[in-house]
Amino acid sequence: MHPGIFTVLRLARLFLIGFFAATSPVFAAERPVILTTIAQIGEPLGRIFSGCARVETLLGTGIDPHLYRLNRTDVAKALEADVIVANGLNLEAQMQSLFERLSATRPVIFAAELLSEIHIIRPDGRSADPHIWMDPNLWGAVLGKTSDELVKIWPRCKPTVANNKAIVIAEIEAVNQYGKSRVASIPEQARILITAHDAFGYFGRRYDLTVLSVQGLSTESEAGIAHIRDLVSIIADRKVGAVFVETSAPERSVDAVIEGARALGAAVEKGSPLFSDAMGSSNTYEGTYVGMIDHNITTIVRGLGGEAPMTGMQKRLAVPPRGES
Ligand SMILES: [Zn+2]
Repeated sequence: MHPGIFTVLRLARLFLIGFFAATSPVFAAERPVILTTIAQIGEPLGRIFSGCARVETLLGTGIDPHLYRLNRTDVAKALEADVIVANGLNLEAQMQSLFERLSATRPVIFAAELLSEIHIIRPDGRSADPHIWMDPNLWGAVLGKTSDELVKIWPRCKPTVANNKAIVIAEIEAVNQYGKSRVASIPEQARILITAHDAFGYFGRRYDLTVLSVQGLSTESEAGIAHIRDLVSIIADRKVGAVFVETSAPERSVDAVIEGARALGAAVEKGSPLFSDAMGSSNTYEGTYVGMIDHNITTIVRGLGGEAPMTGMQKRLAVPPRGES
């Protein structure tokens, strides 16, 4: 998108937020409803707005946001919500027209787009990598900025939100520090993270890991044969210990890479599934944002030959069954 258009859209959004805050009778309701798309926004925001707003999430466990099409129930939920919070940066590619429709009657906030451009990774120089939540430090900032926008709409939430926000962001910073110290224990030549699709660019930048993916930035593109051949030789040359699958992306192409590398004599394992675009089941530790990141850090570090406790930073991770790690 042209940067000028981007700015105009952002200004229009900010204007709408202010406009609806001032005029809509909906905001007089006791517990307003914030509807989020991905749980990486919804779960922490639910804690931050606890006691002040009800936060609901559209996309459940294992759902791929790049491809997800809304059903009637989703649309009904969206129409009942007071504010919509999406990731933006074209993550929710199939939901754009609904967002446009909804923005005529209520604020639609694109959380990741509240960050300044300097933080955004654009691998081809144009389209943005939308997977900001993979960098806990940046995601804390996104959640903070989103909360600030929402508090402008409901100023009475301010004291509660300020208090909860400090607690939630401190926990996120703790998992970030855990990531820094654990990744440093991986032997230097093995700091290569190969995953199913290109969701870990921000993670790699934060923790200084080279990130390669079997598929592209979205789960839509099929992995090319030549690209798979390149990955196979990198795994064999650098003695990469594991290639990781993801809970919300197909495993087929990862299997092809592992088979190819083993045929060259590489001792590479299929790593436990990482949470990339979807978190774990709700009501589990892995179904929280911090738990998801703890799981990813712990799984990646252990898979690549570093040191991390099997049950993670908070000793709350489910231990994978034998043979799967
Ligand atoms: Zn993705």
